[in-house]
Amino acid sequence: MGIWGKEIKTILLFLLMISVIGGFTGLFWPLMFLLLVSIIARQVIQISRFEAWISRGGSKKYPSSVGIWEDLYYHVYRIKKNERRRKKKLGQMIDQFRQSTEALPDAAVVLGINNEIDWSNKAARKVFGLQASDKGQRIPNLIRYPEFIRYLNANNYQTSVIIPSPVDHSVTLEVRIVPYGAGLRLLLAQDISQLKKLERTRKDFVANVSHELRTPLTVLKGYLETLQDLDDGKSLLLTNSFLQMQGQTERMQHLVDDLLLLTRLETQQKKLHCVDVPALLSQICKEGDDLESITRRIELTLETSAHIMGEEQELRSAFTNILGNALKYSPIDSIVKLHWYQEANCVVLAITDKGEGIAKTDISRVTERFYRSEVKRAKKVNGTGLGLAIVKHVLMRHDAHLKIKSELGKGSCFSCHFPASRICD
Ligand code: ADP
Repeated sequence: MGIWGKEIKTILLFLLMISVIGGFTGLFWPLMFLLLVSIIARQVIQISRFEAWISRGGSKKYPSSVGIWEDLYYHVYRIKKNERRRKKKLGQMIDQFRQSTEALPDAAVVLGINNEIDWSNKAARKVFGLQASDKGQRIPNLIRYPEFIRYLNANNYQTSVIIPSPVDHSVTLEVRIVPYGAGLRLLLAQDISQLKKLERTRKDFVANVSHELRTPLTVLKGYLETLQDLDDGKSLLLTNSFLQMQGQTERMQHLVDDLLLLTRLETQQKKLHCVDVPALLSQICKEGDDLESITRRIELTLETSAHIMGEEQELRSAFTNILGNALKYSPIDSIVKLHWYQEANCVVLAITDKGEGIAKTDISRVTERFYRSEVKRAKKVNGTGLGLAIVKHVLMRHDAHLKIKSELGKGSCFSCHFPASRICD
């Protein structure tokens, strides 16, 4: 029998008693009234005891009761107990999370919707010089680098930003923002000073080696030319050896020149001015056609006269590299097309050839330094494997990007996309 059954049974028992006693004494209605009042009084007392217990938090053992009230106390007490247990577990989890993020070697700052600091770990306090009292302060007031503020406000957190630490300028930080929840963001910063140092060492090493190789190469080339002049052509072996040596020194010279150019692209400041691209392309095409014997292979279409802000020498070297490849990797009697045109948000140079094309697996790798497809190596086509790496760097320095479409056996199209913001008069 349920708890309600018991309650009803008790009331019915009282009613029966009143009916019997009331029948004998003639006091049925007064007794009935007394029963009702006592039932109401009992409920009022129970409600006030319950209210007193719950207002104390309902955490202590509940007062002893009978019937429906004991059941009510028991259920509420159980709910409260479970809630307390859950709260404790959650608290422990938060503590563990805080302890682990506090011990993280990377800086972490939780930002609110107005860029205010909600919480930061030990590493963040160290590298950003934050204090406990900075909680609630807006982060742009504390990290004032313009590139950081631009990154913070751009709301595009796919990339990261590199800034020096505000407290120690020798420390370089890579800062990334991870949005989560409703408008909240986690700012993470990693110390990449060692990485930067290594990169600098690599650049210095390549620059120094390339520079040091220049002098011995020039001397070698000089002596080689003298020896070739002295060669009377009587020994085929000797003449061939001189030719081989000349080819290899030239190749090495190209390598050194390309490496030095790459180093310059990585380290030098840009000197921007408005470049007349149509004129530059016409000149490059003329030089290309002059180099190519007998037939004219280059077809230039200038659909726009757009000039762009940039570095003429760098652009020349990028365009020459792509055009050189198009000529080099396509049949001697095929046409190479250059097309300078404007699209909605950009201005494009597309160089299309009907050459051997590039395998799908190679396309993403051809802009890597020294990457040359195995076929080219086997065929011994001249090249350094640095040309497209130079192109990529030059375009990066012009906020532009390279797109490569290619199909084996059908040809390739290399297109350079410059943002319309670069167009100048
Ligand atoms: P390389 O000095 O070998 O030409 P690049 O960096 O200029 O070096 O090019 C890298 C590789 O990309 C080349 O070795 C070649 O395999 C491939 N490649 C570049 N342009 C073309 C093209 N127009 N057609 C086919 N393959 C190309």
